[in-house]
Amino acid sequence: MNIILLGAPGAGKGTQAGILVETRGMVQLSTGDMLRAARSSGTEMGLKVAAVMDAGQLVTDEIVIGLIEEQLDKGSEGGFIFDGFPRTLPQADALGELLAKKGLSLDAVIELVVDDEALVGRIEKRAAEAAAAGQPVRSDDNAEVFAGRLKEYYKKTAPLTGYYYAKGNLQTVNGMQSMEAVRDAIASLLKA
Ligand code: AMP
Repeated sequence: MNIILLGAPGAGKGTQAGILVETRGMVQLSTGDMLRAARSSGTEMGLKVAAVMDAGQLVTDEIVIGLIEEQLDKGSEGGFIFDGFPRTLPQADALGELLAKKGLSLDAVIELVVDDEALVGRIEKRAAEAAAAGQPVRSDDNAEVFAGRLKEYYKKTAPLTGYYYAKGNLQTVNGMQSMEAVRDAIASLLKA
């Protein structure tokens, strides 16, 4: 089973993807994590995307599509969770083509819906918790950059809900619930 988790930054995609990895043996493909890894290892691509990420903007489709293709080639028995990808309509088209080429299906697109006011609070909490735990704080997890990330989301990513709705794939979960309630809602969607 291969699924996409859609939702604004801070909606809980990464948290829920982590749970699916634990409970279903799926492989999480987070382009944000891949890009951060490229930055911290100082690859040419990592250096190229750093400023764009720090500004809260999207990196080019070409880069993230390349990253995803590389990971798909490794395969996953439990299936893939796409987390933070696709984020644009061209990325969604490219994913469809990649999956078809590899004989893989797209089984569900689950949108986590969270109010804007709650999102910024969650992002600030994530930064505070990372700092308290002595972990690196993401350079884009602050209120100023977040405003730009949210605009990018509405301009470029939100249209994907219509795209997948039209394909008959879209399912929606109320992301304002507790982490456990969201987990259970996703589990029952995947069982159905
Ligand atoms: P995330 O961890 O998903 O919030 O991603 C952090 C940052 O990485 C984003 O603000 C973008 O700059 C970049 N990024 C991650 N995934 C994508 C994507 N699919 N397309 C373009 N940029 C991305």
